[in-house]
Amino acid sequence: MKVAVVEGDGIGREVIPVARDVLECVRPDIEFFEVTVGYGKWEQTGTACEESDINDLKSADAILLGAITTPPDPDYRSVMLQIRKKLDLYANLRPVKGEDFDILIVRENTEGLYSGIEWTEADRACTLRVITRRGSRRIARFACERARTRSHLTVGNKANVIKSDVLFRDICLEEAARAGVPCTAQYIDSLALDILQFPSRYDCIVTTNIFGDILSDVAAFLVGGLGLLPSANIGRRHALFEPVHGSAPDIAGRNIANPIAAVRSAGLLLDHIGEPEAAAHVEEAVRNTLAAGIKTPDLGGSATTSAFGKALLRELRILRRR
Ligand code: ATP
Repeated sequence: MKVAVVEGDGIGREVIPVARDVLECVRPDIEFFEVTVGYGKWEQTGTACEESDINDLKSADAILLGAITTPPDPDYRSVMLQIRKKLDLYANLRPVKGEDFDILIVRENTEGLYSGIEWTEADRACTLRVITRRGSRRIARFACERARTRSHLTVGNKANVIKSDVLFRDICLEEAARAGVPCTAQYIDSLALDILQFPSRYDCIVTTNIFGDILSDVAAFLVGGLGLLPSANIGRRHALFEPVHGSAPDIAGRNIANPIAAVRSAGLLLDHIGEPEAAAHVEEAVRNTLAAGIKTPDLGGSATTSAFGKALLRELRILRRR
């Protein structure tokens, strides 16, 4: 089992080592290798991500990634967009769990407003929002597959205003009917408010690229902030696991970032490679550490990133020995 590790920039360099330690603890046989992409690399070499980096990532069974800062370069192409496109990681899964809710946001990850088709003219700048039949169908099928083992599916959309969302919504409803999954469509703005007021009404949500991105940040409010939410980017051949949060330059380098989102991303990686028991242990270790009052400042505690990591590993080792 080969896992590529991309620490990336900012707090990625602080939280990913904790997540990697967690993986090493439960699967000592994993062979890790580092891949360097991002702002740091761009500063040193003028390139943020090379073709050989993409090939290295493709050679891994799974990828663990921290975060990448966008350099202030008008010609810069987002590294994350490149990776998602080139590895065809079309499904972005963002679970948000609390005491009485368990929501899975399934975000289309390769098209929509992040199609990358954009240009600037004298008096305007344009970005093309591309929704394809193929892209909608495959994310709809993916979401239905996940929703089948749960209770129902909600299609987040803005079809009352945006024509491309009529296509997306209708294909999702069609696929859900075919799969026998109870499904309703809801406008994304009302969904963003509702998810905060009535989270337990929601189960699996499928939506387009930027709506999914925003909705999961909104949902972070339900669980105590961005430092807690993991994500998985899944394609037919490749899989990449990363925290929902970015590189947070405002707190980088101070050893105060919350590593839980990264650790939970490692948990999703374990699930993906067929280690659900290890993944459950990781989640239990996170909960036990928090219950012991060890928290980073974003959760009102005073533990450093590395101190939290140490305490978490202690919990994890106890659970693994049982
Ligand atoms: P980027 O441009 O890379 O997305 P950003 O700062 O714009 O970075 P995020 O990194 O997603 O966006 O974070 C937004 C804010 O949330 C940060 O400024 C930080 O204060 C807080 N934050 C994000 N992740 C964490 C974390 N793991 N621990 C503590 N605080 C966090």
